[in-house]
Amino acid sequence: MADWPYSTARWQRLRKAKLSESPLCETCERRGRKVEAQHVDHIVAIAAGGPAFPVMDGLRALCASCHSIKTNALDRAGGKGVAIKGCGVDGLPLDPDHPFLTGGDTPLEGRGAVAQRPAAHTASQLVRDWGV
Ligand SMILES: [Zn+2]
Repeated sequence: MADWPYSTARWQRLRKAKLSESPLCETCERRGRKVEAQHVDHIVAIAAGGPAFPVMDGLRALCASCHSIKTNALDRAGGKGVAIKGCGVDGLPLDPDHPFLTGGDTPLEGRGAVAQRPAAHTASQLVRDWGV
């Protein structure tokens, strides 16, 4: 179903730009796997009120498999709300939208940034633990 906005030239351009900026699946990359991204996902689904043509950070490059997992978990009624189960080697949830990482008050930073850095509340905990 290639409906609006996916049928528009504007979306095609945006998708192309995103994939050239992020040629690898961002979710697989979090797991240390290099998989070519074929899909560009709206982080906030249009159906959930997200913009149809968001800025780059509102989009995520995904492989077909990660995109379908994400869509099933988040964008469909009855989805569990957590797109990616499990934790990475850093002990943080793999799902960049996991409430633990977003913390409710921490805006998602650029792609990959959330993967590399603990969310604000985690950082302040580290500061406390390290006494700096
Ligand atoms: Zn993937």
